[in-house]
Amino acid sequence: MKNIIFIAPPAAGKGTVSNLLKEKYKYNHISTGDLLRNVNKNTDLGKRVQEIMEQGQLVSDELVTELLKEKLKEIDGNFILDGYPRNITQANILDEILDELNINNIMAIYINISKEEAMKRALSRLICPKCKKIYNKFNDEAKPKKENICDNCGIELKTRDDDNEESFKVRFETYINNVKPILDFYKSKNMLKEVSSQTSNITFNMIEKLINEDKND
Ligand SMILES: [Zn+2]
Repeated sequence: MKNIIFIAPPAAGKGTVSNLLKEKYKYNHISTGDLLRNVNKNTDLGKRVQEIMEQGQLVSDELVTELLKEKLKEIDGNFILDGYPRNITQANILDEILDELNINNIMAIYINISKEEAMKRALSRLICPKCKKIYNKFNDEAKPKKENICDNCGIELKTRDDDNEESFKVRFETYINNVKPILDFYKSKNMLKEVSSQTSNITFNMIEKLINEDKND
C-alpha cells in the first residue's frame, strides 16, 4: 500500500478523509502541526524547537524537516503526510529525506475543489467552543444530531471566526498559488493523482480505489 502525501485546499475535506483512512487502513497520520505541538523536549532538537515557539517565532523549514525525518524513522507501517510540503522548497527537501530513508512507495493525492464550493462549505461550518469539534450544517455526514448543539458537550455551536467570506477567499487563493508548483513537481515525477472533492464518503471511495489499484502493480 502506498504512503500518501495529501494536498488539499481549505474545506476540501482532507481531515475527514484522513480519519477514514486511518480507521480502515491503519495509516499513521503525520501532520507538521502535531509534530510541532508534541515535540520531545528531552532531545536537543525538541528543545530548540520549543524555544523558538515560546518566543513566538516561526520554526524554519530546516527544523520542521528534522522533526519530520525523526518521525518517519520512528513509525511502523504506512503514513499519510498532511500539511507538508507547503512550498516547493519543502517538496525538494522532502524528496531528499525520502531518498535518504529509502521510502519510495509514495502517491501525492490532490483533492480538487472549486473556490465557490469551498466557500459554500467553509461558511457553513460550525465549531464547538469547548471540544473544538467541527460540524457542517449542509453536510449530512457532518451536521450535529441536534441543530446547533454539540453532540459531545451539549452546548451551542459557534460559526468559526476565520470563516468570514473575505478572509476565506484570501486563504484559499493563497493556498492555490502556493500549491501550484508542488503539483507540477509531483506531476513531473509521475506521483500525482487527483480526485475531486465530493461528500467525504465518495472522496474516500475514490482514494481507496487509487490505493487498491496500486496493490496489483
Ligand atoms: Zn463539544
